[in-house]
Amino acid sequence: MGTAYKRIVIVGGGTAGWMTATAVKAALPASAVELVESDDIGIVGVGEATLPSIRDFHAQVGINEVEFLRATNATFKLGAEFRDWSGLGRRYFHTFGNYADVAGPACLWGQYRRVGDPALGELGDQCVPTVMSMQGRFARPPKEQADMFSYAYHFDASLYAGFLRTTALKRGVRRTEGRIVEVTRRADGGVDQLKLADGRTVSGDLFVDCSGFASLLLGRTLEEPWVDFSHWLPVDRAWAVPSAPSGAAITPYTRSTALEAGWAWRIPLTDRVGNGHVFSTRYIDEDRARKQLLEQLDGPALAEPRLLRFTTGHRERFWVHNVVALGLASGFLEPLESTSIMLIQRGLLKMVDLLKPGVPPAAPAVAAYNRGMTNVFARIRDFVVLHYCLTARRDSQLWRDMTAMDLPDTLAFRLHVWRQTGVLRQYGEEGFEPASWLAIHAGNGNWPEHLDPVFNEVPLDEARQALRQRRDQIAAMVAAMPLHEDYLRGILGK
Ligand SMILES: Cc1cc2nc3c(=O)[nH]c(=O)nc-3n(C[C@H](O)[C@H](O)[C@H](O)COP(=O)(O)OP(=O)(O)OC[C@H]3O[C@@H](n4cnc5c(N)ncnc54)[C@H](O)[C@@H]3O)c2cc1C
Repeated sequence: MGTAYKRIVIVGGGTAGWMTATAVKAALPASAVELVESDDIGIVGVGEATLPSIRDFHAQVGINEVEFLRATNATFKLGAEFRDWSGLGRRYFHTFGNYADVAGPACLWGQYRRVGDPALGELGDQCVPTVMSMQGRFARPPKEQADMFSYAYHFDASLYAGFLRTTALKRGVRRTEGRIVEVTRRADGGVDQLKLADGRTVSGDLFVDCSGFASLLLGRTLEEPWVDFSHWLPVDRAWAVPSAPSGAAITPYTRSTALEAGWAWRIPLTDRVGNGHVFSTRYIDEDRARKQLLEQLDGPALAEPRLLRFTTGHRERFWVHNVVALGLASGFLEPLESTSIMLIQRGLLKMVDLLKPGVPPAAPAVAAYNRGMTNVFARIRDFVVLHYCLTARRDSQLWRDMTAMDLPDTLAFRLHVWRQTGVLRQYGEEGFEPASWLAIHAGNGNWPEHLDPVFNEVPLDEARQALRQRRDQIAAMVAAMPLHEDYLRGILGK
């Protein structure tokens, strides 16, 4: 047991760094929190789509929603539309809603399959935020029906880092600007001091590495090995470019369009659209990928496309000696399901929990932290791979390989259980609820081979009637909601 972590130093001022500074200061107000960032290096500046858990973070650190929306040009996000993923010309939605019961006699998807009535429409018609998305409508769920659906945001990542920075500085976090050129170690292998280019030094007891892809402390200094996921997730580059709004409505969802060797994102903000093409250089060269992105834009490009390079995977351990890595410094899955900020949050929550007692955590607690984060990455990896491996596309080598590859054991087992028994198997440390898994299976037409006889406990006519009623109630409720843009304007007072 060492001395208490009185001085906490955060390396990096991107989303991860400022989220960490805000959360640590909120949870441990007596600690001295210092963040070091380099204006010359800047931040990655992408990462504009989120998951509903970001609202928990905002609640924990006391961020006001309207102030946040105004400061970051944010829009609401109900989920994502997947175009050309299940097959060319097809689309499906993964939204943050529920599908009522997912097991037992009243299981909604089970009764839907059993009734098998085309007049019922798609399974998505039974899910409130999917119908809202299809109609471009938005309203926050009423408090008494908060479990009906959830929502997240799209925002400008650079503005978000700035917004969090203002919040953190007001609360007493100290900011040091400068490029770190050397890291000195303690006798036990941990980090002792950071040396800046102008000769200043920064000392601390605990160092949180939020230095982005550089992974300055955990990767470069401590040389923690990399766990490579590129066998399952071969994408390794992204072109990113903002475009002018096309004049069309601001969609309350992210669009992801599958292309020849990857996929393109479209993220609507209030003042522009964020676009990107995530691709694998095993299957396409950078120039062709850039051209494919520019062909996707629905308004003029506002800048030259920017190329980002990455490898999917994570560091073997996330907390080593007195260094904890969060954000891109700890690992990166690809952005298909906007999971990076959620991963930062998961790590932060666990880390803060271990810091609260005021003494450095014992070795078994750190080992549990590392196991927990390894599991979170693996669960999310499985969910992202699911989108690829279920496709009916065979029109290019990427898609042929994605459907023929060996899957991670955990995913192969889940797929087997689903096909054989209709159970949406969950492990510990999940990133996504069964309803999310169901949305991807349904969107790809991947249904169990047999229906559970328990579904027969409900008379067929009763089941049909209940599904019709639910669909019609949802349609009527959504038709009464405002368009997303009007709702945004209403709360922003613009
Ligand atoms: C193509 C792409 C798309 C993405 N899309 C999404 C998405 O839709 N949703 C989502 O949740 N996430 C997304 N992400 C991930 C998201 O961008 C990051 O998780 C998030 O921005 C956090 O980044 P970061 O803070 O870890 O790193 P960065 O933003 O890169 O910050 C690193 C910081 O470290 C500092 N630094 C580095 N080296 C030094 C040094 N030597 N001295 C001093 N300071 C230093 C830098 O100045 C900077 O302040 C995406 C990522 C990529 C690559």
